[in-house]
Amino acid sequence: MENLNHKKLLNLLRNKGDMTKLELSAALGLSHTTINTYIEHLTAEGLVETAGFGESAGGRRPVMVRLAENSRYFFGAYFAPERVVILAVNLPGHEIARRTIVPSPLFEETLEAIQNVIGDIIKKKKLDPSHILGVGMSFPGVVDSERKFVEYAPNIGLRSYCFRDFENRLGFKLFLENEAITAALAQRFIDSATAGKNFVYISVAEGIGTGIFIDGDIYKSSNKKAGEFGHIKVADKGLSCKCGRTDCWELYASKTALLRYYREQAGDIPAADDKTLLQMLHRAFRDGESPAIMAVREYTRFLFRGIEAILLSLSPDEVIIGGDLGELMEDIVSYGVNDLKLNSRFFGYEGVPIRVSAFNETGAILGSALLPLYQVYGQEA
Ligand SMILES: [Zn+2]
Repeated sequence: MENLNHKKLLNLLRNKGDMTKLELSAALGLSHTTINTYIEHLTAEGLVETAGFGESAGGRRPVMVRLAENSRYFFGAYFAPERVVILAVNLPGHEIARRTIVPSPLFEETLEAIQNVIGDIIKKKKLDPSHILGVGMSFPGVVDSERKFVEYAPNIGLRSYCFRDFENRLGFKLFLENEAITAALAQRFIDSATAGKNFVYISVAEGIGTGIFIDGDIYKSSNKKAGEFGHIKVADKGLSCKCGRTDCWELYASKTALLRYYREQAGDIPAADDKTLLQMLHRAFRDGESPAIMAVREYTRFLFRGIEAILLSLSPDEVIIGGDLGELMEDIVSYGVNDLKLNSRFFGYEGVPIRVSAFNETGAILGSALLPLYQVYGQEA
């Protein structure tokens, strides 16, 4: 979509719901005639439709306009170590379909399965392929969106993979991005009132990814690698990282690290999957059991060591933590801030809110489908 004002108008309708032309013209600072022309264009494209009448201000009741919900569609595929979630959303960003598959050891087979799922959703939902504007894919790793290339995503075993062939086979435009950035995008999209224009989103899962928003837009730098805070060195213990270096932040502050601390502290805990173990840890922490407190204390110290680096280097309006620790992360952050007083060790950022995203990993799932929407329609909140 070329016209920036068209984008602004669509995003306004997405954020505010039904509006009259008068309200649109006031919000965008454009004349009534210009708004009329835009609405005519967008209606002709099928993107906008009338939505009944608003309140009268004395004369005729004004016509309300809204986004035509099912006029365009966007797909997303979220890659995690043990699953790939495929999602479809419509023009306002509402979910219309979701499937989960188990990835194959052969990446090409996983891609084929994704393609089949997309085809199946199109068929079952009777979507017009010409109204599907792209497929977003999110990876826990270093992604070069422009070259459609994943440089390195160690947690899903992917290195130097170019997606152009797949894009051709699929027949839809592909948009690739790092997982934390897609989660940050969902945060900004859903939560535009509170997610400020300058914020850093930290995604804590098997590793740590960060998404940086500056002036309301994704910041990646010209070499596309900004935001690799997960690999800054935070210790001197010689733990080796999948990136080839040692003592990276994610080795000390990821979910994997937290569970390692708990196992070390608790000693004889039964073998269990990560989710069960996290629940055990959370219960034990709330009950004040010493091994859980010790594990969380160690974890929180390292988590905030990285957050400090982010605050000191970027000075964002806020830091939002997502990932898959669930409610436990709420407890960890308030423990760090209130009990360990970790937010006041350095001057100057005591007031910066550090909050936990309500989306958890669902943010990155939704964000992968919002990626093509964002690229096509921009994000003029
Ligand atoms: Zn590393």
